[in-house]
Amino acid sequence: MYRTVNNGELRKSHIGKEVIMCGWVQKSRDLGGMTFVDLRDRYGVTQLVFNMDTNAHLCQSARGLGREYVIQIKGKVIQRTSINKDMQTGDVEVEVGEIIILNKSKTPPFTIEDETDGGDELRMKYRYLDIRRNPIKNNMLLRARVSSETRKYLDAQGFCEVETPYLIKSTPEGARDFIVPSRMNIEQFYALPQSPQTFKQLLMVGGIDKYYQIVKCFRDEDLRADRQPEFTQIDCEMAFVEQEDILNMFEGLTQHLLKEIKNIEVSSFPRMTYDDAMKTYGSDKPDIRFDMKFIEMNDVCQKNNFIVFDSAELVVGINIKNGASFTRKQLDTLIDFVKKPQVGAKGLVYCKCNEDGTFKSSVDKFFSQEDLKKWANKCNSSSGDLILIMAGETNQTRKALSTLRLHVAEELGLRDPDVFAPLWVLDFPLLEWDQETKRFHAMHHPFTSPKPNDIKKLDHDPASVRANAYDLVINGNEIGGGSIRIHDKDLQSTMFKHLGFSESEAKDQFGFLMDAFEYGAPPHGGVAFGFDRLCAIMGGQEGIRDFIAFPKNNAGRDVMLDAPSKINQEQLDELGLQTK
Ligand code: ASP
Repeated sequence: MYRTVNNGELRKSHIGKEVIMCGWVQKSRDLGGMTFVDLRDRYGVTQLVFNMDTNAHLCQSARGLGREYVIQIKGKVIQRTSINKDMQTGDVEVEVGEIIILNKSKTPPFTIEDETDGGDELRMKYRYLDIRRNPIKNNMLLRARVSSETRKYLDAQGFCEVETPYLIKSTPEGARDFIVPSRMNIEQFYALPQSPQTFKQLLMVGGIDKYYQIVKCFRDEDLRADRQPEFTQIDCEMAFVEQEDILNMFEGLTQHLLKEIKNIEVSSFPRMTYDDAMKTYGSDKPDIRFDMKFIEMNDVCQKNNFIVFDSAELVVGINIKNGASFTRKQLDTLIDFVKKPQVGAKGLVYCKCNEDGTFKSSVDKFFSQEDLKKWANKCNSSSGDLILIMAGETNQTRKALSTLRLHVAEELGLRDPDVFAPLWVLDFPLLEWDQETKRFHAMHHPFTSPKPNDIKKLDHDPASVRANAYDLVINGNEIGGGSIRIHDKDLQSTMFKHLGFSESEAKDQFGFLMDAFEYGAPPHGGVAFGFDRLCAIMGGQEGIRDFIAFPKNNAGRDVMLDAPSKINQEQLDELGLQTK
């Protein structure tokens, strides 16, 4: 037997027991006649002790142990003289009687500690060492729990887990496909699924009325900061449901996960329309852990000969409680912040509501105390508050103020990772105008149904058509999104037409779905959660990378495998491919 106990297990009650243990040498210290070794495995760390007086030979071999050597020991659990309260096993240590080196190790390229000295690329190159570190290991354990709790909940609700293929035909969901050449069908290609969207709809036609899958999806996008080319979804679909059924079911899943994983009970989630979210938070994924709602101020700001406001489509502000104490320097930093390219604003106007009832603004030249008082009334500001205002074209200004809102909240410590504020955002627009291609795209995907009352607007005012589409948002992150689908062949054809597909293009790409719709497709709808991000949020972090065992870097590379890489001429020939 390799081991009788693991390294996180021993307590006072084990004192006197003989044990066999295995693990990695975390560190070894010589203190006079004694050598101490911290032995680590997935479960924890146990202190081993070797005594020069009682067993000099063994103590000598302990001194030769390098970091990350894999060893097996036999020994006796004894009371520790100096108890270590910070260690689970800190009451005891193991007096070693025998040691076997199972494998030596080179010195690792970074320290295997909670706070490591390894940079990101190095950690990724030696990810197997990185996973030995508690923060990464704990993320993997958390991820496994989130997936097992997800399965528990959905299984109990009668969902059936079905696997769908990875080698498929392109499903356009807004991103570029990863393409796989077919050797057996020269000059033909599979695509990797951007999601199992069409398959889950076909499963509904197939009568599997509650489907789920924890599944890999692939999108060949330019990788924005925290995206991965392959990522995981909790993908679900249900038949004979309305939007309300889906919202309730997946609110239930989210509540279950928060309760089981974080021991947090969240009552029913607020709901907000897309329009309200944009108007009140400047974002379709608002962080509602804190207030700072947008206040539209055109009426109190315009017609004062301040051209920036007068020429603006929208003048909009936020009130920062107790923000009047911001120093000049802090305010200047905020102004610099909004001018950065990623925010892209021309400037920022502030107004301090002083404790003595007076006001101090950055535009005092244009606005009297009376005017500023109107601002304060409009914003419901109390003395001691700070009003920040931006102005310009509506969408751009909202976006910029939203970024500022999050930034200020971050600075003020209002984005507490232990607080969870989920909400549903509803009634998304069906279509979105793409400036580059000069045509409408499906905002969610082409299978999303328009709101029945809006269908008649598809022809003359497509931009105003709302969809039966919804997103689950937690703490400013889009965690999930879905929709009620079109299940009628004619409506689906109309949709393809509006998206600029000719009849033959639609038939070529989606003929299989349209055919299926002719054989009794039930009304259906679904949702998919971004599993990596859900795990990151549950783990109190913004980045998804350390919640994925073997992630890619920002250039889409696996630096450990050194992939993607060239393939040899023989493989190219077999596939009928030329690289140049
Ligand atoms: N397939 C969609 C997505 O990946 C989710 C859904 O509509 O269920 O975003």
